[in-house]
Amino acid sequence: MPKRLISKIRGLISDQQTPKARIISSSDHDFRPADLSPSAITVIETLTDAGHEAYLVGGCIRDSLLGKTPKDFDVATSAHPEEIKALFRNCRLIGKRFRLAHVRFGREIIEVATFRGCHSKAGSNDKHQSSQSEAGLLLRDNVFGTLEEDALRRDFTANALYYRHSDGAILDYVNGYEDATTKTLRLIGNPEQRYKEDPVRMLRAIRFAAKLEFSMTKETEAPIIEHAELLGHIPPARLFEEIQKLFLSGAAESVWQLLLKYDIAPWLFPNSTPDRNPDEAHQAMINQVMINTDIRIAQEKPVTPAFLFAVMLWGPLAQRWEQLKSEGVPPVPAMQQAIQNTIGDQIKFTSIPKRFVIPLREIWELQIKLPQRAGKRANRTLEHPRFRAAYDLLLLRESAGESTPGLGEWWTQYQEADAETRREMVEQQGKPPRGGKGRGRRRRPRRYNNQANRS
Ligand code: ATP
Ligand code: MG
Repeated sequence: MPKRLISKIRGLISDQQTPKARIISSSDHDFRPADLSPSAITVIETLTDAGHEAYLVGGCIRDSLLGKTPKDFDVATSAHPEEIKALFRNCRLIGKRFRLAHVRFGREIIEVATFRGCHSKAGSNDKHQSSQSEAGLLLRDNVFGTLEEDALRRDFTANALYYRHSDGAILDYVNGYEDATTKTLRLIGNPEQRYKEDPVRMLRAIRFAAKLEFSMTKETEAPIIEHAELLGHIPPARLFEEIQKLFLSGAAESVWQLLLKYDIAPWLFPNSTPDRNPDEAHQAMINQVMINTDIRIAQEKPVTPAFLFAVMLWGPLAQRWEQLKSEGVPPVPAMQQAIQNTIGDQIKFTSIPKRFVIPLREIWELQIKLPQRAGKRANRTLEHPRFRAAYDLLLLRESAGESTPGLGEWWTQYQEADAETRREMVEQQGKPPRGGKGRGRRRRPRRYNNQANRS
């Protein structure tokens, strides 16, 4: 008998074993993943041909039902991680808390997770499988189970729909089809317990509410404000990942409003909220960067977390810088010190990977260089790889009311000007400080160096 037929029969039998599922047949919905991600279908077929159950699940089905193009494709399977790995050459197992497989096809990654089960049935004391903190936080969520159990372990009903490739049906154990099509965000199970198990679900609720314009049910919404502080238990690296998803989803403006509304913002950007940083100019900058980010994403232009952090933390950085200068520290070392302190305070909450810290520092350091335009300085600044981001930050500072007399306008013109006009613009800036090329670049006299070497 052909393998496909076997898996179809197995699917029909499993419908009888799990009578609770509502089956939405392929003629009653428009989800056609083969047209959208042939790679996802390859993964499903490879798993089912090897005798495992495998379904598409999550955001791809939800988004398709809403008429949106799915961002990525997730697979749920009965195969265990090692079994998945053995079937694909291009596969990597990741995660400790939640172990899963990434199967790579060029730039596309299909996330393949084994069905999760109830922790009560873990039985053994295997801490790699199931482990929970005293506060109820799941430190390990690697108890495997059946399809039906897996559905109940997912976060929201709209995320718990399964697509069965053998007949194109959607399986629904939690009334997710209706919730998805009516844009209702409903946490599965007891909301308080589910948020305690994994407080990141609160951030996911906010992301889906903002991005998909879902309404949270009362039970899903109510515990969020009470339990925001649980985010303090989440490792900073995971919060950084979530921040990227929150602000780079195309609905950052609305996400930020919801983070403030539910008092979650202080757990992500403790020194940037209106309570801690009531400076209106800084709050206006934050709102504006959210709006600009959404516009860039809509235009499919690149966005970087480094710029977002540069704006989010500009208020605390500027405050610290001013304070150090008022204590007599010269501007440049004061800026270095302020950068150090600001990043140091932030990474206690969310990490900032090195690949973003370096550009972040450069964007800030350039804020001191932008006013210095005499001699060759303007050209050097213009050629800096981070110039564009630094200029954008300058414009945001100005639009929020910071006084930087005519600087943004000067740089706008300078970028557009021809070589001759640029020379004239620089000449109007007057001569650079004594020493022609600027003090920073002046070499020490040889004698001084020799003396230094001798001592
Ligand atoms: P998108 O990929 O568009 O951001 P998504 O819903 O697919 O949305 P993923 O992070 O890709 O989100 O997760 C895939 C699926 O895994 C989700 O739809 C949900 O069913 C489940 N899931 C993800 N994170 C959690 C979590 N913290 N708790 C429970 N289930 C989760
Ligand atoms: Mg997804």
